[in-house]
Amino acid sequence: MMMKKIQMQTPIVELDGDEMTRILWKMIKAELITPFVDLKSEYYDLGLVHREETKDAVTVEASNAIARLGVGVKCATITPNEQRMSEYNLSEKYKSPNGTLRAILDGTVFRTPICIDCIKPVVKNWKKPITIARHAYGDIYKATEFRVPEKGKAELVFTGENGTNFRQTIYDFECPGVIQGLYNKDNSIKSFARSCFNYALDAKEDLWFSAKDTISKKYDQTFRDIFQEIFENEFKEKFAEAGIIYFYTLIDDAIARVIRSEGGFIWACKNYDGDVMSDMISTAFGSLAMMTSVLVSPDGKYEYEAAHGTVTRHYYKYLKGEETSTNPMATIFAWSGALSKRGELDGNKELEAFGHNLEKACFETLNSGIMTKDLVHLAEGIEAKAVSSEEFIKIIRAHLQEDLKLD
Ligand code: NAP
Ligand code: MG
Repeated sequence: MMMKKIQMQTPIVELDGDEMTRILWKMIKAELITPFVDLKSEYYDLGLVHREETKDAVTVEASNAIARLGVGVKCATITPNEQRMSEYNLSEKYKSPNGTLRAILDGTVFRTPICIDCIKPVVKNWKKPITIARHAYGDIYKATEFRVPEKGKAELVFTGENGTNFRQTIYDFECPGVIQGLYNKDNSIKSFARSCFNYALDAKEDLWFSAKDTISKKYDQTFRDIFQEIFENEFKEKFAEAGIIYFYTLIDDAIARVIRSEGGFIWACKNYDGDVMSDMISTAFGSLAMMTSVLVSPDGKYEYEAAHGTVTRHYYKYLKGEETSTNPMATIFAWSGALSKRGELDGNKELEAFGHNLEKACFETLNSGIMTKDLVHLAEGIEAKAVSSEEFIKIIRAHLQEDLKLD
Protein backbone atom coordinates (compact mmCIF):
# COMPACT_ATOMS: atom_id res chain seq x y z
CA MET A 1 0.00 0.00 0.00
CA MET A 2 1.35 3.41 -0.89
CA MET A 3 1.32 5.86 1.95
CA LYS A 4 0.28 9.43 1.56
CA LYS A 5 3.35 11.46 2.31
CA ILE A 6 3.36 13.70 5.36
CA GLN A 7 2.78 17.31 4.35
CA MET A 8 4.69 20.34 5.64
CA GLN A 9 3.43 23.91 5.97
CA THR A 10 6.70 25.76 6.45
CA PRO A 11 9.99 24.75 4.84
CA ILE A 12 13.02 23.87 6.92
CA VAL A 13 16.39 25.30 5.96
CA GLU A 14 18.72 22.61 4.67
CA LEU A 15 22.47 23.22 4.84
CA ASP A 16 24.47 20.66 2.90
CA GLY A 17 28.12 20.07 3.75
CA ASP A 18 31.32 18.18 3.01
CA GLU A 19 33.08 14.86 2.59
CA MET A 20 31.70 11.68 4.22
CA THR A 21 28.82 13.46 5.91
CA ARG A 22 27.75 14.87 2.54
CA ILE A 23 27.54 11.29 1.24
CA LEU A 24 25.53 10.23 4.31
CA TRP A 25 23.28 13.28 3.88
CA LYS A 26 22.18 12.11 0.46
CA MET A 27 21.53 8.56 1.65
CA ILE A 28 19.54 9.74 4.67
CA LYS A 29 17.34 11.98 2.55
CA ALA A 30 16.74 9.33 -0.09
CA GLU A 31 16.03 6.45 2.30
CA LEU A 32 14.64 7.97 5.47
CA ILE A 33 13.07 11.33 4.66
CA THR A 34 11.71 11.83 1.15
CA PRO A 35 9.89 8.45 0.91
CA PHE A 36 7.79 9.49 3.91
CA VAL A 37 7.68 13.27 3.98
CA ASP A 38 6.78 15.62 1.16
CA LEU A 39 9.91 17.53 2.07
CA LYS A 40 9.76 21.29 1.84
CA SER A 41 13.21 22.75 2.30
CA GLU A 42 15.19 25.82 1.34
CA TYR A 43 18.45 24.26 0.21
CA TYR A 44 21.84 25.92 0.72
CA ASP A 45 25.00 24.19 -0.37
CA LEU A 46 27.67 24.89 2.24
CA GLY A 47 30.07 22.40 0.68
CA LEU A 48 33.48 24.07 0.46
CA VAL A 49 33.39 24.16 -3.35
CA HIS A 50 30.22 26.24 -3.31
CA ARG A 51 31.40 28.40 -0.42
CA GLU A 52 34.39 29.29 -2.59
CA GLU A 53 32.15 29.96 -5.61
CA THR A 54 30.03 32.37 -3.56
CA LYS A 55 32.93 33.75 -1.51
CA ASP A 56 31.06 32.40 1.52
CA ALA A 57 27.93 34.49 0.87
CA VAL A 58 25.97 31.22 0.91
CA THR A 59 26.74 30.73 4.60
CA VAL A 60 25.36 34.14 5.48
CA GLU A 61 22.26 33.56 3.31
CA ALA A 62 21.64 30.21 4.98
CA SER A 63 22.00 31.72 8.45
CA ASN A 64 19.55 34.48 7.58
CA ALA A 65 17.14 31.88 6.24
CA ILE A 66 17.18 30.10 9.62
CA ALA A 67 16.54 33.43 11.34
CA ARG A 68 13.56 33.92 8.98
CA LEU A 69 12.06 30.41 8.93
CA GLY A 70 13.00 29.27 12.44
CA VAL A 71 14.34 25.74 11.89
CA GLY A 72 17.43 24.49 10.06
CA VAL A 73 19.29 21.22 9.65
CA LYS A 74 23.00 21.26 8.88
CA CYS A 75 25.50 18.76 7.55
CA ALA A 76 29.07 18.86 8.90
CA THR A 77 31.35 21.22 6.98
CA ILE A 78 35.08 21.70 6.57
CA THR A 79 36.61 24.61 8.44
CA PRO A 80 39.49 25.56 6.13
CA ASN A 81 43.08 25.39 7.35
CA GLU A 82 46.31 25.76 5.35
CA GLN A 83 46.05 22.25 3.96
CA ARG A 84 42.45 22.81 2.80
CA MET A 85 43.47 26.07 1.13
CA SER A 86 45.55 24.15 -1.37
CA GLU A 87 43.33 21.04 -1.49
CA TYR A 88 40.33 23.16 -2.54
CA ASN A 89 42.24 25.93 -4.23
CA LEU A 90 40.62 28.55 -1.98
CA SER A 91 40.99 32.26 -2.54
CA GLU A 92 40.42 32.94 1.16
CA LYS A 93 40.63 31.07 4.45
CA TYR A 94 36.89 31.21 5.16
CA LYS A 95 35.71 31.32 8.74
CA SER A 96 34.04 28.30 10.29
CA PRO A 97 30.42 28.13 9.02
CA ASN A 98 29.35 27.30 12.56
CA GLY A 99 30.97 30.50 13.77
CA THR A 100 29.01 32.50 11.18
CA LEU A 101 25.76 30.76 12.15
CA ARG A 102 26.35 31.40 15.83
CA ALA A 103 27.16 35.04 15.24
CA ILE A 104 23.99 35.63 13.20
CA LEU A 105 21.64 33.57 15.38
CA ASP A 106 23.32 34.66 18.64
CA GLY A 107 22.71 31.17 19.88
CA THR A 108 23.75 28.69 22.50
CA VAL A 109 24.86 25.21 21.48
CA PHE A 110 23.26 22.28 23.33
CA ARG A 111 24.94 18.89 22.94
CA THR A 112 23.30 15.67 24.05
CA PRO A 113 24.55 12.09 23.71
CA ILE A 114 22.28 9.48 22.12
CA CYS A 115 22.18 6.66 24.68
CA ILE A 116 21.44 2.99 24.04
CA ASP A 117 21.22 0.13 26.53
CA CYS A 118 24.07 -1.95 25.15
CA ILE A 119 26.60 0.86 25.30
CA LYS A 120 27.40 1.60 28.92
CA PRO A 121 28.88 4.98 29.80
CA VAL A 122 32.40 4.87 31.21
CA VAL A 123 30.95 6.46 34.33
CA LYS A 124 28.93 3.59 35.77
CA ASN A 125 26.34 5.68 37.63
CA TRP A 126 25.27 7.73 34.59
CA LYS A 127 21.75 6.54 33.74
CA LYS A 128 20.47 9.46 31.68
CA PRO A 129 22.07 11.74 29.08
CA ILE A 130 23.86 14.89 30.19
CA THR A 131 23.35 17.91 27.96
CA ILE A 132 26.12 20.48 27.71
CA ALA A 133 25.04 24.04 26.95
CA ARG A 134 28.00 25.93 25.56
CA HIS A 135 28.05 29.71 25.37
CA ALA A 136 29.07 30.15 21.77
CA TYR A 137 30.35 33.71 21.87
CA GLY A 138 33.52 35.53 22.87
CA ASP A 139 36.14 34.77 25.52
CA ILE A 140 39.24 33.02 24.23
CA TYR A 141 37.65 32.53 20.77
CA LYS A 142 37.62 36.28 20.21
CA ALA A 143 40.80 37.05 22.09
CA THR A 144 43.61 39.34 21.01
CA GLU A 145 46.98 37.94 21.88
CA PHE A 146 50.62 38.37 21.15
CA ARG A 147 54.04 37.31 22.20
CA VAL A 148 55.84 39.76 24.41
CA PRO A 149 59.28 39.98 22.80
CA GLU A 150 61.25 41.83 25.45
CA LYS A 151 61.29 43.43 28.88
CA GLY A 152 58.47 45.95 29.30
CA LYS A 153 55.13 46.84 30.85
CA ALA A 154 51.79 45.33 29.75
CA GLU A 155 48.68 47.37 30.54
CA LEU A 156 44.92 46.95 30.26
CA VAL A 157 43.32 50.14 28.93
CA PHE A 158 39.68 51.07 28.35
CA THR A 159 38.65 54.36 26.76
CA GLY A 160 34.94 55.03 27.22
CA GLU A 161 32.87 57.05 24.78
CA ASN A 162 31.59 59.16 27.66
CA GLY A 163 34.90 59.60 29.36
CA THR A 164 35.36 56.55 31.58
CA ASN A 165 38.98 55.57 31.49
CA PHE A 166 40.64 52.56 33.05
CA ARG A 167 44.31 51.75 33.02
CA GLN A 168 45.84 48.94 34.97
CA THR A 169 49.15 47.17 34.84
CA ILE A 170 48.83 43.54 33.90
CA TYR A 171 52.47 42.68 34.39
CA ASP A 172 55.88 44.25 34.36
CA PHE A 173 57.70 41.84 32.11
CA GLU A 174 61.33 41.22 33.08
CA CYS A 175 61.70 38.74 30.21
CA PRO A 176 59.79 37.70 27.06
CA GLY A 177 56.37 36.11 27.54
CA VAL A 178 52.80 36.05 26.26
CA ILE A 179 49.76 38.26 26.70
CA GLN A 180 46.07 37.90 25.86
CA GLY A 181 43.03 40.13 26.06
CA LEU A 182 39.52 38.73 25.99
CA TYR A 183 36.00 40.04 26.36
CA ASN A 184 32.34 39.23 26.48
CA LYS A 185 29.16 41.32 26.30
CA ASP A 186 26.27 41.55 28.77
CA ASN A 187 23.83 41.12 25.87
CA SER A 188 25.41 37.88 24.79
CA ILE A 189 25.57 36.52 28.34
CA LYS A 190 21.88 37.41 28.80
CA SER A 191 20.98 35.58 25.58
CA PHE A 192 23.00 32.61 26.77
CA ALA A 193 21.19 32.58 30.10
CA ARG A 194 17.74 32.88 28.52
CA SER A 195 18.46 30.13 25.98
CA CYS A 196 19.56 27.85 28.82
CA PHE A 197 16.55 28.57 31.03
CA ASN A 198 14.15 28.06 28.12
CA TYR A 199 15.84 24.86 27.04
CA ALA A 200 15.67 23.49 30.59
CA LEU A 201 11.94 24.25 30.72
CA ASP A 202 11.46 22.55 27.33
CA ALA A 203 13.41 19.47 28.41
CA LYS A 204 12.03 19.56 31.98
CA GLU A 205 15.52 19.05 33.32
CA ASP A 206 17.52 20.83 36.03
CA LEU A 207 19.99 23.48 34.93
CA TRP A 208 23.48 23.79 36.39
CA PHE A 209 25.78 26.66 35.57
CA SER A 210 29.46 26.65 36.42
CA ALA A 211 32.32 29.14 36.15
CA LYS A 212 35.31 30.23 38.20
CA ASP A 213 34.11 33.35 40.01
CA THR A 214 36.39 32.79 43.01
CA ILE A 215 39.38 33.54 40.78
CA SER A 216 37.76 35.72 38.13
CA LYS A 217 36.01 38.18 40.44
CA LYS A 218 34.78 40.52 37.70
CA TYR A 219 34.60 38.45 34.54
CA ASP A 220 33.12 35.18 35.73
CA GLN A 221 31.26 36.93 38.53
CA THR A 222 29.38 38.89 35.85
CA PHE A 223 28.24 35.64 34.23
CA ARG A 224 27.07 34.34 37.58
CA ASP A 225 25.22 37.57 38.46
CA ILE A 226 23.46 37.82 35.08
CA PHE A 227 22.26 34.22 35.31
CA GLN A 228 20.97 34.80 38.83
CA GLU A 229 19.20 38.04 37.94
CA ILE A 230 17.45 36.59 34.89
CA PHE A 231 16.49 33.51 36.86
CA GLU A 232 14.97 35.54 39.72
CA ASN A 233 13.14 37.96 37.41
CA GLU A 234 11.93 35.73 34.61
CA PHE A 235 12.16 32.02 35.37
CA LYS A 236 11.94 31.27 39.08
CA GLU A 237 8.20 30.60 39.08
CA LYS A 238 8.21 28.68 35.80
CA PHE A 239 10.96 26.42 37.16
CA ALA A 240 8.99 25.80 40.34
CA GLU A 241 5.90 24.92 38.30
CA ALA A 242 7.92 22.53 36.13
CA GLY A 243 9.48 20.96 39.23
CA ILE A 244 13.03 21.68 38.13
CA ILE A 245 15.83 23.66 39.75
CA TYR A 246 18.61 26.03 38.75
CA PHE A 247 21.86 26.42 40.61
CA TYR A 248 25.30 27.91 40.16
CA THR A 249 28.43 26.14 41.31
CA LEU A 250 32.18 26.45 40.82
CA ILE A 251 33.43 24.54 37.80
CA ASP A 252 35.64 22.31 39.99
CA ASP A 253 32.66 21.36 42.10
CA ALA A 254 30.50 20.89 39.00
CA ILE A 255 32.93 18.36 37.57
CA ALA A 256 32.92 16.34 40.78
CA ARG A 257 29.12 16.42 40.90
CA VAL A 258 28.76 15.51 37.22
CA ILE A 259 30.89 12.40 37.72
CA ARG A 260 28.88 11.34 40.78
CA SER A 261 25.50 12.11 39.20
CA GLU A 262 22.94 9.92 37.45
CA GLY A 263 22.75 12.34 34.53
CA GLY A 264 19.51 13.81 33.22
CA PHE A 265 20.33 17.52 33.54
CA ILE A 266 21.69 20.44 31.55
CA TRP A 267 25.15 21.75 32.34
CA ALA A 268 25.72 25.29 31.13
CA CYS A 269 29.36 26.18 30.52
CA LYS A 270 31.30 29.19 29.32
CA ASN A 271 32.65 28.94 25.79
CA TYR A 272 35.97 27.21 26.45
CA ASP A 273 34.66 25.00 29.26
CA GLY A 274 31.82 23.87 26.99
CA ASP A 275 34.19 23.11 24.13
CA VAL A 276 36.38 20.91 26.30
CA MET A 277 33.72 19.36 28.51
CA SER A 278 31.49 18.34 25.61
CA ASP A 279 34.32 16.15 24.29
CA MET A 280 34.70 14.60 27.73
CA ILE A 281 30.96 13.96 28.01
CA SER A 282 30.60 12.50 24.50
CA THR A 283 33.61 10.22 24.88
CA ALA A 284 32.50 9.04 28.32
CA PHE A 285 29.02 8.28 26.99
CA GLY A 286 30.49 6.20 24.18
CA SER A 287 31.25 8.02 20.98
CA LEU A 288 31.41 11.41 19.30
CA ALA A 289 29.42 9.82 16.49
CA MET A 290 26.48 9.54 18.92
CA MET A 291 26.39 13.19 19.96
CA THR A 292 23.73 15.57 18.67
CA SER A 293 23.96 19.31 18.67
CA VAL A 294 21.40 22.08 18.43
CA LEU A 295 21.98 25.80 18.28
CA VAL A 296 19.13 27.66 19.98
CA SER A 297 18.78 31.42 19.68
CA PRO A 298 17.25 33.43 22.53
CA ASP A 299 14.21 34.18 20.33
CA GLY A 300 13.60 30.49 19.62
CA LYS A 301 15.30 29.65 16.30
CA TYR A 302 16.79 26.17 16.04
CA GLU A 303 19.66 24.76 14.00
CA TYR A 304 20.23 20.99 14.32
CA GLU A 305 23.41 19.12 13.44
CA ALA A 306 25.75 16.28 14.40
CA ALA A 307 28.52 17.19 16.84
CA HIS A 308 31.20 15.41 14.81
CA GLY A 309 33.02 16.64 11.71
CA THR A 310 33.07 15.51 8.11
CA VAL A 311 34.91 12.23 8.95
CA THR A 312 37.69 12.87 6.43
CA ARG A 313 39.53 9.59 6.96
CA HIS A 314 36.45 7.58 5.96
CA TYR A 315 35.82 9.83 2.96
CA TYR A 316 39.24 9.12 1.49
CA LYS A 317 38.51 5.40 1.83
CA TYR A 318 35.13 5.93 0.17
CA LEU A 319 36.83 7.77 -2.71
CA LYS A 320 39.09 4.76 -3.22
CA GLY A 321 35.95 2.65 -3.65
CA GLU A 322 36.23 0.96 -0.25
CA GLU A 323 33.09 0.22 1.72
CA THR A 324 32.73 2.49 4.73
CA SER A 325 30.95 2.00 8.00
CA THR A 326 30.52 5.59 9.12
CA ASN A 327 27.93 6.14 11.82
CA PRO A 328 25.01 8.26 10.51
CA MET A 329 23.11 8.38 13.85
CA ALA A 330 23.92 11.96 14.83
CA THR A 331 23.11 13.23 11.34
CA ILE A 332 19.81 11.29 11.28
CA PHE A 333 18.97 12.78 14.68
CA ALA A 334 19.67 16.24 13.29
CA TRP A 335 16.96 15.56 10.70
CA SER A 336 14.52 14.02 13.16
CA GLY A 337 15.08 16.89 15.59
CA ALA A 338 14.52 19.53 12.91
CA LEU A 339 11.40 17.89 11.47
CA SER A 340 9.88 17.31 14.93
CA LYS A 341 10.55 20.90 15.93
CA ARG A 342 9.06 22.18 12.65
CA GLY A 343 6.00 20.02 13.33
CA GLU A 344 5.74 21.32 16.88
CA LEU A 345 6.00 24.97 15.80
CA ASP A 346 3.44 24.51 13.03
CA GLY A 347 1.04 22.43 15.12
CA ASN A 348 1.68 19.61 12.63
CA LYS A 349 1.28 16.49 14.80
CA GLU A 350 2.05 14.07 11.99
CA LEU A 351 5.38 15.68 11.20
CA GLU A 352 6.26 15.92 14.87
CA ALA A 353 5.47 12.22 15.33
CA PHE A 354 7.50 11.31 12.24
CA GLY A 355 10.67 12.66 13.87
CA HIS A 356 10.06 10.52 16.95
CA ASN A 357 9.29 7.45 14.82
CA LEU A 358 12.51 7.91 12.90
CA GLU A 359 14.45 7.94 16.18
CA LYS A 360 12.53 4.89 17.37
CA ALA A 361 13.50 3.02 14.18
CA CYS A 362 17.16 3.89 14.82
CA PHE A 363 16.95 2.52 18.37
CA GLU A 364 15.21 -0.65 17.16
CA THR A 365 18.03 -1.20 14.68
CA LEU A 366 20.78 -0.69 17.25
CA ASN A 367 19.01 -2.76 19.90
CA SER A 368 18.83 -5.65 17.44
CA GLY A 369 22.63 -5.57 17.30
CA ILE A 370 22.93 -4.01 13.85
CA MET A 371 25.40 -1.14 14.05
CA THR A 372 28.28 0.64 12.40
CA LYS A 373 31.86 -0.42 13.05
CA ASP A 374 32.63 2.31 15.58
CA LEU A 375 29.92 1.01 17.95
CA VAL A 376 30.54 -2.72 17.67
CA HIS A 377 33.53 -2.78 20.01
CA LEU A 378 31.63 -0.65 22.55
CA ALA A 379 28.53 -2.86 22.68
CA GLU A 380 28.09 -5.16 25.70
CA GLY A 381 25.70 -8.02 26.35
CA ILE A 382 24.50 -8.18 22.77
CA GLU A 383 25.65 -9.94 19.63
CA ALA A 384 26.68 -6.95 17.57
CA LYS A 385 27.20 -7.01 13.83
CA ALA A 386 28.96 -4.29 11.87
CA VAL A 387 27.35 -3.24 8.61
CA SER A 388 28.12 -0.52 6.08
CA SER A 389 26.49 2.89 6.42
CA GLU A 390 24.26 2.08 3.49
CA GLU A 391 23.04 -1.21 4.93
CA PHE A 392 22.53 0.37 8.33
CA ILE A 393 20.34 3.10 6.84
CA LYS A 394 18.37 0.55 4.79
CA ILE A 395 17.63 -1.50 7.91
CA ILE A 396 16.47 1.62 9.74
CA ARG A 397 14.17 2.28 6.79
CA ALA A 398 12.67 -1.19 7.10
CA HIS A 399 11.95 -0.60 10.80
CA LEU A 400 10.50 2.80 10.03
CA GLN A 401 8.23 1.36 7.38
CA GLU A 402 7.02 -1.25 9.82
CA ASP A 403 6.44 1.31 12.57
CA LEU A 404 4.47 3.47 10.17
CA LYS A 405 2.55 0.32 9.15
CA LEU A 406 3.61 0.36 5.52
CA ASP A 407 4.52 -2.46 3.20
P1 NAP B 1 35.71 14.21 12.70
O1 NAP B 1 35.24 14.39 11.33
O2 NAP B 1 34.71 14.33 13.78
O3 NAP B 1 36.38 12.78 12.79
C1 NAP B 1 37.37 12.41 13.75
C2 NAP B 1 37.38 10.89 13.93
O4 NAP B 1 36.31 10.52 14.80
C3 NAP B 1 37.13 10.11 12.65
O5 NAP B 1 38.30 9.92 11.92
C4 NAP B 1 36.53 8.83 13.20
O6 NAP B 1 37.50 8.00 13.79
C5 NAP B 1 35.68 9.35 14.33
N1 NAP B 1 34.32 9.71 13.90
C6 NAP B 1 33.73 10.95 13.89
N2 NAP B 1 32.48 10.88 13.46
C7 NAP B 1 32.25 9.59 13.15
C8 NAP B 1 31.12 8.90 12.61
N3 NAP B 1 29.99 9.55 12.31
N4 NAP B 1 31.23 7.57 12.41
C9 NAP B 1 32.36 6.91 12.70
N5 NAP B 1 33.46 7.51 13.21
C10 NAP B 1 33.41 8.83 13.43
O7 NAP B 1 36.87 15.25 13.04
P2 NAP B 1 38.19 15.67 12.21
O8 NAP B 1 38.71 14.52 11.43
O9 NAP B 1 39.04 16.34 13.20
O10 NAP B 1 37.69 16.78 11.20
C11 NAP B 1 37.35 16.54 9.86
C12 NAP B 1 36.78 17.80 9.24
O11 NAP B 1 35.55 18.12 9.89
C13 NAP B 1 37.66 19.03 9.39
O12 NAP B 1 37.81 19.65 8.13
C14 NAP B 1 36.93 19.93 10.35
O13 NAP B 1 37.08 21.29 10.00
C15 NAP B 1 35.51 19.51 10.21
N6 NAP B 1 34.67 19.67 11.41
C16 NAP B 1 33.41 20.16 11.22
C17 NAP B 1 32.53 20.27 12.27
C18 NAP B 1 31.17 20.81 12.02
O14 NAP B 1 30.80 21.06 10.89
N7 NAP B 1 30.37 21.01 13.03
C19 NAP B 1 32.93 19.85 13.55
C20 NAP B 1 34.21 19.31 13.71
C21 NAP B 1 35.07 19.21 12.63
P3 NAP B 1 38.28 6.83 12.99
O15 NAP B 1 39.05 7.51 11.91
O16 NAP B 1 39.15 6.26 14.06
O17 NAP B 1 37.28 5.86 12.45
MG1 MG C 1 36.14 20.71 21.07
